[in-house]
Amino acid sequence: MKAWTGPEVPTLPGAAGRLLVHDTALESLVPVEPDAGEARLYVCGITPYDATHLGHANTYVAFDLLQRVLLDCGSRVTFTQNVTDVDDPLLERADATGVDWRELAADQVQLFRDDMTALRVIPPQHYIGAVESIPSVVELIESLKHTGAVYQVDDPEYPDWYFEVRRAPGFGRLSGLAGDDAVEVFGERGGDPDRAGKRDVLDCLVWRLERPGEPAWDSPLGRGRPGWHIECTAIALQYLGVHFDVQGGGSDLVFPHHEMCAAEGAVATRQPFAKAYVHAGMVGLHGEKMSKSKGNLVLVSRLRASGGDPMAIRLALLAHHYRSDWEWTVVDLPRAQERLDAWRAGVARTVAPAAQPLVAAVREVLRTDLDAPAALGLIDAWAAQPGDDPDAGAQVGRAVDALLGVLL
Ligand code: ZN
Repeated sequence: MKAWTGPEVPTLPGAAGRLLVHDTALESLVPVEPDAGEARLYVCGITPYDATHLGHANTYVAFDLLQRVLLDCGSRVTFTQNVTDVDDPLLERADATGVDWRELAADQVQLFRDDMTALRVIPPQHYIGAVESIPSVVELIESLKHTGAVYQVDDPEYPDWYFEVRRAPGFGRLSGLAGDDAVEVFGERGGDPDRAGKRDVLDCLVWRLERPGEPAWDSPLGRGRPGWHIECTAIALQYLGVHFDVQGGGSDLVFPHHEMCAAEGAVATRQPFAKAYVHAGMVGLHGEKMSKSKGNLVLVSRLRASGGDPMAIRLALLAHHYRSDWEWTVVDLPRAQERLDAWRAGVARTVAPAAQPLVAAVREVLRTDLDAPAALGLIDAWAAQPGDDPDAGAQVGRAVDALLGVLL
């Protein structure tokens, strides 16, 4: 699938170092240590039916920041992202609105591309739809079948294929969820704990056999379509290989989605799926998580259409630490615009405080679990101070562009 047009990312002098990020599985900071200088990053993409609300934008800007900091640490980055362009929520939305599901997906993916371009998010090298990944999904299910970890439920009408979670060593360690808590969250987030005929209530669907009126593809497993988790597992393994550096997404993906991907990947490859699991916080509105089902979406496209500067939108997101949950309010955008104006005035000065100490300090806070709010504070202080360096404005402008993705 076509991604979007990428921004130019300047290289700053002295680009070398190490990034520490918070790993959800270990609940501590871990270094990202790419093999042979190539960091391999997978970030779960959208299901294209409610793109692009600020919760999405917050997640993709967070991982864009991670990518920019890795680049500034001297790594190359191979970045893969999926698009869940066939799944229940998309099909339900298409049914409810009378739009063909393919058309709905195509329109929403285009909207997402336009928003990502405007927000200056670096595109993935591999932007892969679920539909186009079906051959590799089927291949992965077949290989899991050979290990005995995939089975058909005992249902004469629809003997769908499931992954047996207990086959995975350490299942549950990523999320720390077990027992009734795990079952409850599984049920809330697309799982089917009540499906009869499973070996374990948490076993997850990997191949859904064709139902009347639903899209389906031929395969040795029978005509059907992939489950959600196996789609990401297959795409990540195909485009990044085993034991890649970071699997990322919003914190609502920790369980079951990333736990299932990690389990399937570990059983299929006999190696840990990813080295670190990194999660962005949730953006709320009026006390609730932003989501289509709650009808409380703030869309990036709507903010842009009403004159919001995409760089101010990006700064409004970066003003919150990527791991924190926070609420969008009416003051977020005007405040970010004020900051953007102050920074633009700061870099446009004929003389300003030297860039080098500022860039070193910004690098330091970003390399310690991507502390963007601290970086923003440092730049605010620089922009407010007098100085006598005629080159500093241009140098700081380049650094803000390279590290934070904000074009001044
Ligand atoms: Zn995913």
